[in-house]
Amino acid sequence: MPRDAKKLQRYRAMRSPEVTNEPFGYDTAETFPEKRAHGAYVVHLHDATRRHYDVRLEIGGELLSFAVPHGPSLDPSKKHLAVNTEVHPIEYLEFEDVIPKGEYGGGAMIAWDRGAVTYLEGPPEEEMATGKLHVELHGMKLRGRWAFVKLAKSAKGNEWLLFKKDDESANPGRDLLAELPRSVLSGLTVEELLERDAIGDRFLARAKALGATKLTTSFVTSRRPALAAIAGAKKPGSKAPLPPSLFDAELGGIRVLAARDGDVVTLRRWAGAAGEDVEAYYPETVRALRALPLSSVVLEGELIAFDPSGHPSRALLARRARSFASEGALRATTETPVILVVTDVLAAGDLDTRPLPIEDRRALALLLLPSIGFLRAASPLEGDEATLLEAMASLGIASAIAKPKGAPYDDGGWQRLETGVAPPSLTPIRHESTREVNVTNREKVYWPGDPTYTKGDLVDYYAAVADVLVPFLKSRPVILTRYPDGIEGKSFFQWNVPAGMPPWIRTLVLDRHEHLKRVFLVDDAATLLYVANLGCIPLHVLAARASSREEADFATIDFDVKQSTLTDAITLARTLHRILDQIGLPGFPKTSGQSGLHVLIPLGPGQSFDTARALAELLGRLLVERHPDIATMERVVGKRGDKVYVDTVQTGTSRAIVAPYSVRAVPGATVSAPLAWSEVNAKLDPRAFTIATMPKRLAKHGDRLAGLLEARPDVPAAVAALSSLVVARLTP
Ligand code: MN
Repeated sequence: MPRDAKKLQRYRAMRSPEVTNEPFGYDTAETFPEKRAHGAYVVHLHDATRRHYDVRLEIGGELLSFAVPHGPSLDPSKKHLAVNTEVHPIEYLEFEDVIPKGEYGGGAMIAWDRGAVTYLEGPPEEEMATGKLHVELHGMKLRGRWAFVKLAKSAKGNEWLLFKKDDESANPGRDLLAELPRSVLSGLTVEELLERDAIGDRFLARAKALGATKLTTSFVTSRRPALAAIAGAKKPGSKAPLPPSLFDAELGGIRVLAARDGDVVTLRRWAGAAGEDVEAYYPETVRALRALPLSSVVLEGELIAFDPSGHPSRALLARRARSFASEGALRATTETPVILVVTDVLAAGDLDTRPLPIEDRRALALLLLPSIGFLRAASPLEGDEATLLEAMASLGIASAIAKPKGAPYDDGGWQRLETGVAPPSLTPIRHESTREVNVTNREKVYWPGDPTYTKGDLVDYYAAVADVLVPFLKSRPVILTRYPDGIEGKSFFQWNVPAGMPPWIRTLVLDRHEHLKRVFLVDDAATLLYVANLGCIPLHVLAARASSREEADFATIDFDVKQSTLTDAITLARTLHRILDQIGLPGFPKTSGQSGLHVLIPLGPGQSFDTARALAELLGRLLVERHPDIATMERVVGKRGDKVYVDTVQTGTSRAIVAPYSVRAVPGATVSAPLAWSEVNAKLDPRAFTIATMPKRLAKHGDRLAGLLEARPDVPAAVAALSSLVVARLTP
């Protein structure tokens, strides 16, 4: 069942996408069955004009929303007004931020509770129509049965009452709202959300006051310190005395190093010496780390799934890892949420907290993290070893780690202690994933007019050219430009991969303007389809591979004809071809897919961007020298006149060019078409290459780019030959 855009019409009409930071309902490619008995829910605390709680329940793939001024009460006699408001996009489950002033709902909004909802009396759409809705909530804070009942006398027709049904989770004496005011994501109160930065600064000042030191460069660049070693088990009753220690129960979860740097979060676990990055499987942990008031932080913790009675369950965790592949991220995270129980703080901001005594590091964890939420600070146990082990044994806990007081991280002599309880069989956790892409909204018109093309046509085109396109894209950072409503709708660059990305997709972390960004690597046809299904029309790539980011494997000469003619660009491209022949370099012409022409010059491995740029620049100058009447390298648009702009600055470590075979977001659905040099002539018509014609052309002529990736030209010899051409020109 594809998403129904009509449901979000009202929501979108009330908000400006340029101003608000709220989701617009474009970010997920998951699909949802129309009618189901279970779903996800979120309760926001929203400090808008009037403070209220927003209870949002997943129904039919989006979120039914009620604004509840007094919030949910555990007292069944308290029936609170709940105003049915506009349907919100499913992505709103993750939302927590300060909505800009002046926008609809401007003000701070925290995710106060999250969990799963069960609809008790049939499909919720049908029950709603009768003016009632009976639900059971399985949340971090709210539990048990609840009812929404529509007010018969509601003037506006949108007024309901929300109340607790009388069951074992009802508790008239308990005020949950006052008792647990914090976000389950950031751990902040709604007031604190407004001063996140100040709170982050205060945390860092506290760490500094405790004696945290400046991080060394090696820590920053590796961002991967090793987890502290744990010495083998000490049997119960063994006489060797322990130094005074803190004790952490082992809960049978996955021990990970969690690191956040800006938007980029990694969760790394170790199986023996080999590390495995598992963050793609735990989007709720990633989201919560991104919500913290610290833009960079490194934590140690255990990923744990708790059973309904609140006990950590290894079997549940294993099931969660399996269900992630079969059920998708939303179902898995809703039905079996995973909590990161944090036992240590290794770094925060630009501070290294590892030298601090463990007591101080634990105090920092408790200062940063809430008691209930996707991230929690573990409470270490203190006291007599024998008594503690006995207590743990009575809870069925098989082992604990003793951590000597006063010791810095990884110098502490951590030791595993057995309680005497037989250790549970450690079900191996395998992160499985299937490579399936559900294409959504196939019929949506992306190119209106004549001919009309749909989103399905776009995805089918990329599937048809995958064999020739994927080898070019492989290991190359790709930057997405998304057009979720087609070429006439809004578009946006997406530097970071979206939340909910399938775990089998490879990504690369790029340093961009001192912030880390995680981008796609399109290494197989499935990833290409995934990207196309996000509504990404053109694919822009860097001229480098992930493994050698400082090396350019091709240079680009771009003949930009906005103010001139294609005929002149063709003349210049043919001259460039002769020059390249003379200096022993191959060149591969292609249409840009819009009006211009590109020539890609493969450089083979080992060439720096400086070399590539210098080469492009020399070639450009030579072209302008030979054709001063039709070519210019003038950067200022107004000074170019009607000449072809020979753009040689497309070669740079962060410059992205449109990939060959890439579709363009222009009428006609043209594509960037690789050409034979014999086709670079007066008859060339770039508009002839479209998503409809390119697959046939490929079948007939094969890949005109064949040879580009294998080329190993003698670049130094070519540069020398080129220099002598330039010198020859200068010498009368
Ligand atoms: Mn609200």
